[in-house]
Amino acid sequence: MRPLYLDTAATTPIRKEVLDEMISSLNDFGNSEARYYSFSENAKKNIQVARERIATALGCNSDEVIFTSGATEANNLFIKGYAEANPHKKKIIISKIEHSSVRETCYYLKKYGYNVVEIPVDSSGLINMDILKKEINEQTLFVSIIAVNNEIGTIQNLKEIDAVCYENNVPFHSDATQAIGKIDIKLNEYKALNFLTFSSHKIYGPKGIGALIVKKANGIKVDLAPLFHGGEQEEGYRAGTLSNELIVGFGKATELITNCIQRNNDILANLEKTLLQKLKNKFGDYIKVNNAFSNRVYGLINLQFIGQNNMILLKQMSPIVAASTGSACSISKPSNVLAAIGLNSKEISYSIRLSLSIFNTPDDLKIIDNL
Ligand code: PMP
Repeated sequence: MRPLYLDTAATTPIRKEVLDEMISSLNDFGNSEARYYSFSENAKKNIQVARERIATALGCNSDEVIFTSGATEANNLFIKGYAEANPHKKKIIISKIEHSSVRETCYYLKKYGYNVVEIPVDSSGLINMDILKKEINEQTLFVSIIAVNNEIGTIQNLKEIDAVCYENNVPFHSDATQAIGKIDIKLNEYKALNFLTFSSHKIYGPKGIGALIVKKANGIKVDLAPLFHGGEQEEGYRAGTLSNELIVGFGKATELITNCIQRNNDILANLEKTLLQKLKNKFGDYIKVNNAFSNRVYGLINLQFIGQNNMILLKQMSPIVAASTGSACSISKPSNVLAAIGLNSKEISYSIRLSLSIFNTPDDLKIIDNL
């Protein structure tokens, strides 16, 4: 019996339509940047198709899609790149529940004199808007707030944050890695949200590819220092030969997942209901859901097995269910996200995250009865 994989918030399997396009593009020989020969025509064309698919999905232009190796790199590129290009402003505003690739990158900048303000959240993970309004000022370099949290699924009110940033003339970046395919984000409906991060392997695409959307200001390129030097690719923001097969897969995955947001959410909502019911039947009061609030995405449950150490529990469960404690990127530390919504260290040590796939079926969940 194969264990049931319930860790899609960490990474998803590649869906078949994506794999098919990737396999055929592996044969697209030639450097996509080459100008004077025709070998690379296919690679070039297919990269442009992928760019356009992503641009359509997100309501931006195709030349605003900057391919990176994933969300970690995209977050680093924005945070360090924007800081370096705008050295006169030293105040950074993030939330208390950012992914480590935003939080740690901002902390890294502290040694260069940056003041990092972390806006607290309520028990459902929503940022305190009054504190944001109080903190934001002309010294603020940018505001970066995670669109959907990776441990508890909280959906932030992006439009409200956007309005505050716009009023204060401060650029807004969001890590939307867990949001794409679950909530609809069209950048042309925003005024300050000019930078957006996301990643392919969270949306049934391949690993090793993601993007930073860098919106142009009235057609003019924004200043952003590159992390890598020595190449003019990606508008000069990201040097290095593009991986056409990964980009093709990423483009297809983005198109497919964003075309069916309502359907995906219906599937996940149903599966989640069944999963929770099964767990309640089996464990009764020994389980407690940490994210039993409505402002969150479906298919991501964070819960405590009261009295059970989460690491030991996950190991014991592993022949039946493959899950994790939360963020795989900062596994050695207790969850700062659960602490931010008010859990104590004991409660955090009992907590695990179960995240479903749109390809799971109610039949798959029967395995839970064996726990
Ligand atoms: N941001 C969020 C919200 C994530 O969930 C993750 C993946 N754990 C990342 C960033 C990093 O993504 P990647 O693996 O593509 O670098």
